[in-house]
Amino acid sequence: MNDSVILPEGLTKAEFTKAIEAFRAVVGVDNVIVDLDRLVPYTKIMIPEDERLHQPSAVIIPLTVDHVQKVVGLANQYKTPLWPISTGRNFGYGSAAPATAGQIVIDLRRMNRIIEVDAEMCTALVEPGVTYEQLRNYIEERNLPLWLSFPSSGPIAGPVGNTLDRGIGYNRYGEHMAHFCGLEVVLPNGDLVRTAMGGVKGGAAWQAYRWGYGPWVDGLFSQSNLGIVTKMGLWLMRKPPASMTFTAVWNHIEGAAKGVEALRNLRLNNVLENSLLGHVLYGVACEVPRTALYNGAGAIPDEVIAEIARKAGAPIWNAIATLYGTQEQIAVNFKIVKEAFEPTGAILLTEDQVGPNRFFRHWQGAMTGRPDLVEFGLYNYRGGGGSVWFSPLAPARAEDFKKQVGLVKTTLAEFGFDYLAGFLVGGRHMEHVCEIAFDRTDGEEMQRAYRCYDKLLKVNAEAGYAVYRTNTAFMNKVADIYGPAQKKFNQTLKRALDPNGVIAPGKSGIFA
Ligand SMILES: Cc1cc2nc3c(=O)[nH]c(=O)nc-3n(C[C@H](O)[C@H](O)[C@H](O)COP(=O)(O)OP(=O)(O)OC[C@H]3O[C@@H](n4cnc5c(N)ncnc54)[C@H](O)[C@@H]3O)c2cc1C
Repeated sequence: MNDSVILPEGLTKAEFTKAIEAFRAVVGVDNVIVDLDRLVPYTKIMIPEDERLHQPSAVIIPLTVDHVQKVVGLANQYKTPLWPISTGRNFGYGSAAPATAGQIVIDLRRMNRIIEVDAEMCTALVEPGVTYEQLRNYIEERNLPLWLSFPSSGPIAGPVGNTLDRGIGYNRYGEHMAHFCGLEVVLPNGDLVRTAMGGVKGGAAWQAYRWGYGPWVDGLFSQSNLGIVTKMGLWLMRKPPASMTFTAVWNHIEGAAKGVEALRNLRLNNVLENSLLGHVLYGVACEVPRTALYNGAGAIPDEVIAEIARKAGAPIWNAIATLYGTQEQIAVNFKIVKEAFEPTGAILLTEDQVGPNRFFRHWQGAMTGRPDLVEFGLYNYRGGGGSVWFSPLAPARAEDFKKQVGLVKTTLAEFGFDYLAGFLVGGRHMEHVCEIAFDRTDGEEMQRAYRCYDKLLKVNAEAGYAVYRTNTAFMNKVADIYGPAQKKFNQTLKRALDPNGVIAPGKSGIFA
């Protein structure tokens, strides 16, 4: 074992070596990694912190639920913390690396069985290693009339990890936490529990009904460290007879702010089932490196952005949504959409009117079951491999929209970063998803990105906003924003269920 291995906190090298031998006896020698070279994919992060603060001591790759239970049992015996990942693509939130150095990553990618897809009920039951691409191929090969909802990092990520981190997709079922149904979980003491109807022998309605009987505990396993999820039920969208993607565009923030209210009302009235509202620079950044746009100091000024937009033939603000149903339903709903957008001063464009626009096609694909990797172009914008998502949550109101844009854009500019952002507008809330792209190879710039994120948290908290999800560098600070009572409650649960603190210490700022 190499000397620069970072050991789990409190363990001697001899104890760690013994633990590794015990894990190897369960999952096989090759499925426990301690070589630094082979740990690289689990150590590489994009967030603005030193990799060594998140370097795992080892990686265990189980194949079965029985393996996971035995590994958890040994973790209690040897006091080795385990950081579970499903497909490990949590880019911009910490990737596959743990919250604190020395934890052992338990990588569930070999547990990748699609156990069932029921086309009639529109449900699936999958293991954690299943990727969206794998599930989509399964559905297509069988010509099943089902569409997946996936994040923009789509094909290579997976539904279990994404959902557990409260990820977001873009079709009717885009709020993933609201559309999983039934979990199988290995608890910190090694017990195996199936939630909701899964507790009933035979579990006939496990993927049909979310609530079961007694306290609904499923939420306890999301963004938490109270168990390792080994199976998840999913609700899938039935492929509609037709769909129609359209865009509404504005060049001024006042119009876009009215657009937020229109989108919210259309969602509250069940006319729209998904919607996003993006700023022009986000789309441009997916396609063009920053050096080709601007070489001045600091963030790109608004007048330059206006010129970039003019040259690209793009508006500054751009809402996209998709209607689903029969042609008749779509025609009726599109009429309602037009009436709703009319007072906002939007120009409304249908697919034919937009023409061959790569970014429009990307979002249309996201809303109609076709994932792609278009947004990975973001990483060429600044270069240097730095990326962190800042995602505050706000009520879907015009005033909050303007306040959010102002707060975030001004703070980013204070640290020299561009505003690359969009809003996912729900029925009552909106997620303001902002990418801070920075050069990780430049120490000063990385520190600046860290300070920028920190200040963004602060100014948002002062205005009553907080992020709904964060990266492994900021989990404590975000937990503090949510207040001492929630922190104490979470710790009480943690101590009761995981007294040895073996599952993901530090996740969401929760320690035993
Ligand atoms: C270009 C780009 C666009 C993106 N767009 C989106 C987007 O639209 N929506 C979105 O939500 N995200 C987005 N992301 C962020 C991220 O890539 C996705 O959320 C991705 O789905 C997360 O990775 P994963 O699915 O591999 O989950 P993992 O990395 O496997 O898991 C995420 C976290 O969940 C927990 N976890 C995972 N598995 C288990 C388990 N079995 N038991 C207990 N806890 C577990 C762990 O804490 C883990 O760190 C984007 C990233 C990029 C680079």
